[in-house]
Amino acid sequence: MRISLVYQILIAFILAIIAGAIFGEAIFVVEPLGELFLRLIQFVIVPLVLASLIVGVTSLGSGKQMLRLGGKTVGYFLVTSFLAVGIGLSMGFLFNPGEVADIDPPTEEEAEEELEDTEEQDDDVVDVILSIVPENPIEGMAEADILQVIFFALALGIGILLVGERAEPVKNFFESLAEVMFKITGGIMKVAPIGVFGILAPVVGEHGLAVLMPLLVVIAALAVGCLIHILVVYGSAVKFLGKISPLKFFKGMSPAFMFAFSAASSAATIPLSMKNVQENVGVSNNTSSFVIPLGATINMDGTALYNGVAVLFIAQFYGVQLSFLEIVTVMVVATLAAIGTAGVPGAGLIMLTITLTAVGLPLEGVALVAAIDRILDMIRTGTNILGDSACSVYIERSEHKDKAFQADKNAPSA
Ligand code: ASP
Repeated sequence: MRISLVYQILIAFILAIIAGAIFGEAIFVVEPLGELFLRLIQFVIVPLVLASLIVGVTSLGSGKQMLRLGGKTVGYFLVTSFLAVGIGLSMGFLFNPGEVADIDPPTEEEAEEELEDTEEQDDDVVDVILSIVPENPIEGMAEADILQVIFFALALGIGILLVGERAEPVKNFFESLAEVMFKITGGIMKVAPIGVFGILAPVVGEHGLAVLMPLLVVIAALAVGCLIHILVVYGSAVKFLGKISPLKFFKGMSPAFMFAFSAASSAATIPLSMKNVQENVGVSNNTSSFVIPLGATINMDGTALYNGVAVLFIAQFYGVQLSFLEIVTVMVVATLAAIGTAGVPGAGLIMLTITLTAVGLPLEGVALVAAIDRILDMIRTGTNILGDSACSVYIERSEHKDKAFQADKNAPSA
């Protein structure tokens, strides 16, 4: 009897938790398996995003349609991230982690060590926006800078549309490259259960209960907040805006969720999210090839929610009472900080300093959560990628109306 991939990944997931808990740090021997899988998946990201987004743009047909799709997508990202910070703050008030957690203030060395990593974070907004335009597209691809790859793909796609018939060979090339990349992604996914085991077991082995216990209330606040956000915000978006069954959506996205949770990287989850959203949920290539990579780079609801929880935790711990105005500031700044957070492990912790600075909270607070940040990262990354896929469901329905969700029949099979 063949077990479907979803269940294989689920079994690997459970086994990883059990093995990590039993063997502790000895389970590090399986780490190369996880590393190998991560490398395999990372190597498809750039050509996959490039080729499938070019195909997406050329099948859209007009610049106007593209602008509308872009506007709706970014609008949705902003609204859901803002809601997420609100939920995070509510969890902070509800769970009161700064008072409940049983921890000592960080020593000076601990604080300094954590803050060292955060020092490069002083790019201003103008630079960040300018850097979306690659000086050299090959360099952008070589660095796997997803926003630059998206820019290049959009430009190529529009160029192909404008040139028309004489650009057919270029268009055909990218169409078949996209298909080939999907095929390769499908092949890599066959070993996903081994990869998930190799990534997750060492994380569990390293974070024994002794590390987690004192800050369990922070983990609980984030987990409950993310669960509410996933069920209420994404559940409603999928049901009322996308008009499909939330159950089908959550089940279809579960492999990507488990992978994102294990790897703590939205960027590394792009190939799997695209595959799940197209094959299991039925979103078309032209919607998902745009929404998923963009979302994995700028739409971070889990990270936004985490900012809300962490700010209140740190404020409570240092006995600082935030005013109404400061709460509003946190909501705005945390939304922006989440947009600027890269889809890689640990990025959210670094960006948290921006939100803390905005309301004058001690930056050493970062050291308070650092020990458990990987666990928090897993929860927020799982949420992040579900947010991108839920958005693609909404966009699919609003762009294609009655013809939406027919794509699974035509999608290149993997
Ligand atoms: N690891 C997260 C992600 O890739 C970002 C974060 O650290 O919040 O989505």
